Amino acid sequence: MSKLDHYTVFGHPINHSKSPRIHTLFAEQTQQKLSYEAQDVPAESFENAINNFVKNGGKGLNCTVPLKELAWQRADSLSERAKFSKAVNTLIVQKDGSLLGDNTDGLGLVADLTINHQISLLNSRILILGAGGASRGIIGPLMEKSPAKIVIANRTLEKAITLSDEFSELGDILGCSYDDIKEQQFDLILNATSASLTGDLPPLAETLLADNGVCYDLAYGNEPTTFVKWGLSHNAAKSLDGLGMLVEQAAEAFYLWRGVRPETANIIKLLNSER
Ligand code: NDP
Repeated sequence: MSKLDHYTVFGHPINHSKSPRIHTLFAEQTQQKLSYEAQDVPAESFENAINNFVKNGGKGLNCTVPLKELAWQRADSLSERAKFSKAVNTLIVQKDGSLLGDNTDGLGLVADLTINHQISLLNSRILILGAGGASRGIIGPLMEKSPAKIVIANRTLEKAITLSDEFSELGDILGCSYDDIKEQQFDLILNATSASLTGDLPPLAETLLADNGVCYDLAYGNEPTTFVKWGLSHNAAKSLDGLGMLVEQAAEAFYLWRGVRPETANIIKLLNSER
């Protein structure tokens, strides 16, 4: 009888997490023998929790709010994209017990936009709202799709500028305040703020979304988020939330751990039907 390999997601809060369900569905689909559980880990307990997990033979873990930067610092080695993003959402326990850090958020977002929703990013004007961990993870993979430009708007201006400076070698990236973009238009607006979690919305000009533009909220919920509603009321061609991204980033993590790529479309459909 073969024993189960153990995986987990650390975060705080974590009880809302859909990751255990998604990875259990992936494991059933690909016939992999594994368990995946959620563990409530505040930042101050991260080091202990991770050491225990590795000591007990755990094979890999995801890290979510507020642990992605800590996971980046804790990783013994980093993938190229994780190095750049300074945020890690996936850790792989190596044979010698060391931790390899990666970030699959950006790949998940790009897969959801371009494959699941057939949205072309080539030459598009992209606006990212927010300059936190999620924004860090998505800029590199978005830039690989050759958009015309990426503008990052943030409540705390310095953070947007720091981010645009760090990624400037990838292409046309500008950090600014919400006030600075009042007169501009974008083909794709990505909400990477955590404002939706409290039903809030950054201050967005009425004319911000170009004709036929798309809105995408990285956050998701059983009901449309405040930003998804904003997109719908501003004639967005599509106004989407981040459930597809969540499944796609998980599929990428599963692939890194197991070497098998799960099929995502049916799982997204299933999770959508349960909202
Ligand atoms: P962070 O805490 O790192 O960053 C939060 C960002 O939101 C900051 O830029 C902050 O601005 C901004 N913000 C918060 N509240 C407001 C507000 N009321 N008005 C304007 N700006 C605000 O969070 P993350 O980057 O880790 O996560 C951001 C979102 O992305 C979350 O909703 C998270 O759930 C989602 N996410 C979804 C994923 C998916 O797979 N679907 C994957 C990863 C993240 P300031 O700097 O001024 O404080």
